[in-house]
Amino acid sequence: MLDYDLHCHSNISDGTLTPTEVVNRAALRGVKMLALTDHDDTDGLAEAGAAAALHGMKFVNGVEISVTWRKHTLHIVGLGIDPANPALQAGLKSVRGGRTGRAMKMSDELARAGIGGVFQGALKYASNPNMIGRTHFARYLVEAGHCKDVKSVFNRYLATGKPGYVPHQWAVLSDAIRWIKESGGIAVIAHPGRYMVGRHSMGKQTMHILLTEFVQLGGDALEVVTGSHTPEQYAEFSRYAQEFGLMSSCGSDFHGPDESYRDLGRLPDLPLICRPVWEALK
Ligand code: AMP
Ligand code: MN
Ligand code: MN
Ligand code: MN
Repeated sequence: MLDYDLHCHSNISDGTLTPTEVVNRAALRGVKMLALTDHDDTDGLAEAGAAAALHGMKFVNGVEISVTWRKHTLHIVGLGIDPANPALQAGLKSVRGGRTGRAMKMSDELARAGIGGVFQGALKYASNPNMIGRTHFARYLVEAGHCKDVKSVFNRYLATGKPGYVPHQWAVLSDAIRWIKESGGIAVIAHPGRYMVGRHSMGKQTMHILLTEFVQLGGDALEVVTGSHTPEQYAEFSRYAQEFGLMSSCGSDFHGPDESYRDLGRLPDLPLICRPVWEALK
């Protein structure tokens, strides 16, 4: 059986390892097919692909696009994209373009809450300054002694409605799907369970509307097994995938050895009713 991991991050976005280090770690852990899916940026793919070739590992070009749908932030993973596609690159560039201004606003909000200098502090953690995001803020706030770990920083300062949270307009869902499809990729809704927990989450009815729209727009798959899902959610989202005729994907959403829900690879099998997305990637 092949070991698939179709969702992870390098320091091109908010992971802590370089693309080569991610691939080497995945190879060491027995991954046979890996997709690197940095947020809104494909700059790590060439390096990761070259590293994967040295291990004889199948490598899939990926990306995770930030989307605003209704009042929700969604992540749409593209698998098997062509990073040279001009429409995709122009789209990703426009999504990245809002990040620095947003980060400055977040820093202003945190200053108002009594914590100064966070923009400069977070920037030190962003290897790719165009891609500054909440995870870099969280790492700095841990360093500065405000919380014990990244998770606690999100709960206290950075999650929706918290003092450092700044609402932001990301890509439109139809655009994100179009960029992925036009570049030859497969569009996947990442970690759907995460949109259904917490005070600002969507209910079942809204999830149905989202999936209906996603299918109409040409979306292909749902992430069923992911680091942030419980086994109950594997079952729940495999049923959604079946109901909406979507394929199923699996990925760790690894961000680094010390911060992730799960390490690379060795993920639980997809439920038997699932149609695995990798059958369309071969
Ligand atoms: P951004 O794109 O800047 O809004 O950052 C989103 C990233 O923050 C996600 O991809 C995760 O890596 C991280 N993140 C979001 N929520 C949490 C959380 N509750 N705990 C830890 N990391 C989180
Ligand atoms: Mn992330
Ligand atoms: Mn995500
Ligand atoms: Mn991710």
